Amino acid sequence: MDASVMNGKDGMAGAVAGVRNVMNPILLAKAVMEHTDFVFLHGNGAEELARAQQLTFCDDQYFFDDFRYQQWQEVKGSDTTKLDHSSEKKFGTVGAVAKDIEGNLAAATSTGGMTNKRYACIGDTPIIGAGTFANNNTCAVSCTGHGEYFIRSVVAYDIHCLMEYKGLSLKEACQLVVNDKLVKTGGEGGLIAVDSNGTPQLVFNSEGMYRGYYCYDEQPVTEIYR
Ligand code: ASP
Repeated sequence: MDASVMNGKDGMAGAVAGVRNVMNPILLAKAVMEHTDFVFLHGNGAEELARAQQLTFCDDQYFFDDFRYQQWQEVKGSDTTKLDHSSEKKFGTVGAVAKDIEGNLAAATSTGGMTNKRYACIGDTPIIGAGTFANNNTCAVSCTGHGEYFIRSVVAYDIHCLMEYKGLSLKEACQLVVNDKLVKTGGEGGLIAVDSNGTPQLVFNSEGMYRGYYCYDEQPVTEIYR
């Protein structure tokens, strides 16, 4: 499992990749951010930190999902990978972005990765700037999709840069990156983002994306397809 978190107020970030049996990898990413001088830990070393921080571990069975297992049986041994966006049941990557009452932005993303990805392959999720990015002056972004494309396009940071250097709105930046730049490279997926005004964007070029947002004093909104 891979996860990352970034704080838009001070630019601090934490990430973990290739961890097993940690119940909430996102808490481990947060522990990297808060309790080490480093940003990115992987494998055994990351799990060692989880034990030192007394995070909860679960056995393999806890993470077993029959739908995912069946999906894997279908593509096992082939070069095909599956995203949770392109099948009927969409359990997988979870992202969150938020603006708090003091105007601080933050982003977090956690995943088990694409079904049938190559062993030891790490996607965009734990890579700060690719799958996750936050800066109080612009936006907080959390991505989901075919990670290789999101890494090569440095998607989350690209959204931030288009706002900071080119003055685009969050909406314009998301449209350009997700529905134009990514589409041209063949990158399937989407992202959730919030800008410094607290305006959310939930944008995707895949069939659907399980998503929701909540603004203070308003009804929560949840959607799947377009
Ligand atoms: N982006 C994730 C990865 O490449 C997969 C996903 O979002 O479903 O590992």
